[in-house]
Amino acid sequence: MSNHHPCICISYRKVLLAIVEPIKSDWQDRLMRDLKALPKAHLHLHFTGSMRITTLRELAAAQQIRLPENFSADAALHVPANQRGWFRFQRAYDAARKVVRSESTMRRIIHEAAADERQEGSKRLEIQIDPTSYAPFVGGITPALEIVLDAAKAASHDTGVQIGIIVAASRMKHPLDAAILARLAAKYAGAEPGCVVGFGLSNDERRGETAQWAKAFRIARKAGLAAVPHGGELLGPQHLREIVEHLHPARIGHGVRAVEDPALLQQIVDQSIALEVCPASNVHLGVYQQLGDVPLRNLLDAGVKIALGADDPLLFRSRLAAQYEAARTILGFSDSELATLARCSIEASLASPSDKQKWYREIDSWLLTSDEASQQCASADPPTLASTPKNSSLQSDH
Ligand SMILES: [Zn+2]
Repeated sequence: MSNHHPCICISYRKVLLAIVEPIKSDWQDRLMRDLKALPKAHLHLHFTGSMRITTLRELAAAQQIRLPENFSADAALHVPANQRGWFRFQRAYDAARKVVRSESTMRRIIHEAAADERQEGSKRLEIQIDPTSYAPFVGGITPALEIVLDAAKAASHDTGVQIGIIVAASRMKHPLDAAILARLAAKYAGAEPGCVVGFGLSNDERRGETAQWAKAFRIARKAGLAAVPHGGELLGPQHLREIVEHLHPARIGHGVRAVEDPALLQQIVDQSIALEVCPASNVHLGVYQQLGDVPLRNLLDAGVKIALGADDPLLFRSRLAAQYEAARTILGFSDSELATLARCSIEASLASPSDKQKWYREIDSWLLTSDEASQQCASADPPTLASTPKNSSLQSDH
């Protein structure tokens, strides 16, 4: 029985916590591996959506283009998952695209994207573009694509981040336009950095019948390009079934709503179709209320190959490493599980088998080096350590 005055006890506890909490936090930080040092591949990033906000503002000011409020204020776009929400998103994206009116700007976007990817530990970037949008300023879709390919080759060389290009058709345009784009993409197909590696389909999932784009995807696949259409973000399992049936994807952009149908999910696993999951995008487009609702763990537990992506960091203000950070801090992924996600992203990429093996080894080193550091920390008996959920099924190398 203590005869101390309660106020003294509270003060004593406050002093103790003031000493212990910073130490505890320091130990936890030291046990967390640097996610920007984790080797990974970024497979879902759009050309204009990759632009730095500072670049957008600079280009808009130079051309006296007025930007919507979400770009001038320091706020990420956040819209509901309905037609009106998509319209607001598209209007913002179009406003950003308006500043891209020259070859030099197009080259700058690719170079800055590559530099930013390097900062985030990305070894390979597969960036998607619809060259039609920039064609009027550079003399047509062929020069528009050639500029991007040449910039990608140069940026790969300068930064060490391998860049492959995905030519993406739009659901807002006629399927015949998609076939024209697919033929153009096929001409530049190749495995080297600065070549076209895939063919996509983007924009509002609710537009058009998926089967109408089958022909364009057939042309692309025949040329050796991977089919990587968007799907299963705004629409659910039925839409995904159509994508799988008609477009034969190697990967699907988003596809998160496959979790709503176990049979479909199993089909995606059986066919080894990877999903490019973009948690921040899902939340900012109103598909899920918060990051904790994104079914990343369910997808991985089901055996789906996942590649985390940022989609449009210009609008959502969240780059690649932030997606891994969210998986760690909000969804409770351990470093071993985060390493598995990184391996999955590399496996789902279109890089060469030898490059993939090299990056797998670098991921192993990331875990190993940090493990040693962690053991050194642990041997000094730190204050209570943060526990991290384990899932043994995620430890294997996909
Ligand atoms: Zn996208």
